[in-house]
Amino acid sequence: MSSIPTGQFITRSAEETFELAYRIGEAINEPTVFLLQGDLGAGKTVFAKGIGAGLDIDPAEVNSPTFTIVNLHDGPGVRMRLYHLDLYRIAGGANEVYDLGLEEILAEPEAVIVIEWPERLGGFAIPNAYRVAIDDLGGDERSVSVYHEG
Ligand code: ADP
Ligand code: MG
Repeated sequence: MSSIPTGQFITRSAEETFELAYRIGEAINEPTVFLLQGDLGAGKTVFAKGIGAGLDIDPAEVNSPTFTIVNLHDGPGVRMRLYHLDLYRIAGGANEVYDLGLEEILAEPEAVIVIEWPERLGGFAIPNAYRVAIDDLGGDERSVSVYHEG
């Protein structure tokens, strides 16, 4: 079992959010799914970069490109492969999610999966995930809640 820190955290800069996610990424040692929710600019991608860094992935590679919905990060030295999904641009609903191949990705034995905009999953349920909710408290302050869902 991974010993992923959970609870509510307050961060006061992008670096602090990155550092929190980095510690979570470092703790991962089995396939894990993270559902990152929060408004545009909340810090979901910053958090995804931190998780990547904790898996020994170059955080500069983890971003939200305009046309790609699923990004795979893997290679020599990477501790576990990371699938980073940004569902912002899909209309949502189970059919579109099936088309992305998410079922196959979820079946991979050694993958970490980070999903931005999980609201778009619609009825496509992902059991046993970590829910990360990021709220902008004003300025550079964010509330970051990390909870395991059954
Ligand atoms: P999202 O993916 O949720 O749309 P991003 O991670 O792309 O958001 O962007 C978050 C923006 O907010 C970045 O410009 C980042 O520098 C800024 N920011 C300021 N304070 C924080 C914080 N405490 N945590 C995360 N990001 C922060
Ligand atoms: Mg983003």
